[in-house]
Amino acid sequence: MKECIAVINAGSSSIKFSVFTNDNSSSSSSGDDSLELIFKGQVDGIGVAPKFEATAPDGTILASNEWANHPDVNHKMLLDEIIQWAGENLDGREIRAVGHRVVHGGKIYSKPVLVDESVLQTLETFVALAPLHQPHNLVPIKTLAQMDPYLFQVACFDTAFHTTMPDVARNFALPRNFTQEGVHRYGFHGLSYEYIANKLPSFDLQAAKGRAVVAHLGSGASMCAMLKSKSIASTMGFTAIDGLPMGTRTGSLDPGVVLYLMRQKHMDTDDIERLLYKESGMLGISGISNDMRVLMKSDDPRAKEAVDIFVYRVKKELAGLVAALEGIDTLVFTAGIGENSPQIREQICQGLQWLGIRIDSEANRRGKPRISTSDSDVSVWVIPTNEELMIAMHTRKLMVQNTVYH
Ligand code: ADP
Repeated sequence: MKECIAVINAGSSSIKFSVFTNDNSSSSSSGDDSLELIFKGQVDGIGVAPKFEATAPDGTILASNEWANHPDVNHKMLLDEIIQWAGENLDGREIRAVGHRVVHGGKIYSKPVLVDESVLQTLETFVALAPLHQPHNLVPIKTLAQMDPYLFQVACFDTAFHTTMPDVARNFALPRNFTQEGVHRYGFHGLSYEYIANKLPSFDLQAAKGRAVVAHLGSGASMCAMLKSKSIASTMGFTAIDGLPMGTRTGSLDPGVVLYLMRQKHMDTDDIERLLYKESGMLGISGISNDMRVLMKSDDPRAKEAVDIFVYRVKKELAGLVAALEGIDTLVFTAGIGENSPQIREQICQGLQWLGIRIDSEANRRGKPRISTSDSDVSVWVIPTNEELMIAMHTRKLMVQNTVYH
């Protein structure tokens, strides 16, 4: 029977899923050549107005559904809906393995891991490090394990790619006991950076061997400094609020502000968490939207200010990463904003001419992979990321290593 690999990325308000073919499964290849997308989809708006949509690789809508919000329409029930729909649309294929995006691998996991009962228990201990994300990541793993205890499930971590960061980039200026217990920078979006690091040699071999900054600019946004394709610094830190301002997250914030909010505004932990994660960033500054497309189209000066602050902070954080790398050979834009907004890329690059960055307006408008001019000191690229494919690749690699094939 033909088989496939499913990928699940479960968050607080959405569950994304993809299914890939795994037709050359007996080969020991760990590349992406035999992993072809069959369909993908998501349920979003969980807890508000849940909506399901599944699409074919060409974007054709295969199915959609909506539910009125109700306590019974929860993650578990919606996951069951996804499993049922996927099961009915596999065209006779069998799901041999499921790869999961898991935000935190703590101090322990520097690469993907096959999940068993003891791994699951360890992953539960990281909930304290990522309380808004980790519990949701683990629900599908537990649910599927209950349905089929022998299902091959792999956890792939957003933190793993950054475990190569040196101590000097990793440690906060806190007393050592905090650092030792794990209060340090972890960095996130690691699956996206790993995908780009894998792709870079096919675009530019020199870039893959040199000093690169990869800007993952989506509704969550961060940047990574890579030396010879390994992470040496990230704008994100202990949590995914640090660094760049995002759709609804503050990015770096003077910790004194939090003390002020507690003392003077009597805000408790939940109030502050909501403010930092959900009400700030582009939405908070503009008061209009967290979506960069909406802000770019708006005439409202608050929207312009939000975009200006985003661009300013990207440039400022980028200069910090260039200092960490002691120079820059390559800049890569990826994720929703990075891949799709020539205006934002142009605004960022215009302010970086002092670094020897020069972009070709026409190439930038087309978003074709290389957007720098031939005389630019730094090669600048637009490379679409694919975290789901990265997870499928890791899952298959572990299947091969664990001789799932006979
Ligand atoms: P996520 O972090 O949810 O994976 P994405 O990487 O998909 O986010 O990025 C989503 C964001 O990308 C949207 O919120 C939107 O602001 C931005 N985006 C998408 N297309 C464009 C565009 N053409 N111009 C500007 N921003 C865009």
